[in-house]
Amino acid sequence: MQAEIITIGDEILIGQILDTNSAFISKALNKIGVSVYQITSVQDDMAHIIKSMKEAEENADIIIITGGLGPTKDDITKRTICDYFQDHLVQSEAVLENIKHIWKTYIKQPLAQVNIDQALVPSKASVLMNKYGSAPGMWMEKNGKVFISLPGVPFEMKALMDDEVIPRLRETYQFPYIEHITILTHGLGESSLAERIEAWEDNLPPFIKLAYLPGLGRVRLRLSAKSNDREMVETEMKAQVKMLLPQIEDVFVSFETDESIEVLIGRQLTSLGKTLSIAESCTGGKMAQLITKNPGASKYFKGSVVTYASESKTDVLQVPEALIEAHSVVSGPVTEAMARRARELFKTDYAIATTGNAGPDKGDSDVEIGTVYIALATKDHVFSEKFELGNHRTKVIMKAVNKGFEMLQK
Ligand code: ATP
Ligand code: MG
Repeated sequence: MQAEIITIGDEILIGQILDTNSAFISKALNKIGVSVYQITSVQDDMAHIIKSMKEAEENADIIIITGGLGPTKDDITKRTICDYFQDHLVQSEAVLENIKHIWKTYIKQPLAQVNIDQALVPSKASVLMNKYGSAPGMWMEKNGKVFISLPGVPFEMKALMDDEVIPRLRETYQFPYIEHITILTHGLGESSLAERIEAWEDNLPPFIKLAYLPGLGRVRLRLSAKSNDREMVETEMKAQVKMLLPQIEDVFVSFETDESIEVLIGRQLTSLGKTLSIAESCTGGKMAQLITKNPGASKYFKGSVVTYASESKTDVLQVPEALIEAHSVVSGPVTEAMARRARELFKTDYAIATTGNAGPDKGDSDVEIGTVYIALATKDHVFSEKFELGNHRTKVIMKAVNKGFEMLQK
């Protein structure tokens, strides 16, 4: 079973936005065993869209289109679909009800004609109801091929993929059984890890594939199996993981279901009933931002301070000036003092602190670019670790964030 994705929008082609919709859709389709054969981005132009649809129909069984469904004049997908399928627009009462409900509950403004018009759908389409927006998704069939049109707004598209498109594709087709197991490791580079598990990898059965997904400071190992024999896949995947684990015991962090380390930390802290605070310098609030991105973070996260300037470390966190002078502001003792004080200020079980020189210039800093100290304070202990994280500013910051989370998780 093959799919093709068409994303519509001038914004994509002029580089104003990144086409993240395709990545999400590809991932979701791959998970159920549908290979994506081609991804095309086209302008808001009827002739171009039709040309892409024709090509896609020749090559793929499932064609997913995003964008161009809004109420504005430049959004022409619906008219294009009508043209392509020689169809006409009819009003969908269910969609109109949904639009009225959204306007009454969230928008609280009179409904304009352009919004009412969003309830117009091709007569041959079956509607995929969009609970987050006024533009519905549409499912059209032609000569055994399926065309699915979704709104461009990423969170609307994602909800429609998860709640409507994937379940419906599963109902319509018999897909082979697919299983993915992802293992998060830290502390060993990709090539060293590969060398260590080479013998095991060479003996994997042909229907199981292994992929290395290196990140900043960590490597994900993803095992994927695909077969019509579900029982065999499940048994064999379990057996392979059982063989692998003893070989990577020292670098194993967790099994992953697309979950980030912050999410895992959140779950751990919640189950332990422990709380966290953060004092950040070189990471500039990034750790706090990632933690608070997760719903439910208020259960375990009390707050953070960003003390970027040396004097702020003294003024806000009472790090003694003498300590900074004696050791440098980027040092173990200063970072430890920050963590200790943050824990007291926020009255938490744990506190993390970061200081470092993220570059790109050494400036008047007395440490090398990429030198980062991270400290962890608990009730009875505070300790810090020094890291050398390279010379690329953004990467140094993200690596420091990951190292901080890893220290907390251990
Ligand atoms: P709307 O009702 O908002 O007009 P729409 O279905 O017409 O929705 P577009 O107008 O194409 O969709 O895009 C709406 C917004 O969604 C864009 O401004 C852009 O930020 C985002 N978007 C569109 N396509 C993509 C894409 N392929 N990847 C990521 N973001 C996208
Ligand atoms: Mg639009």
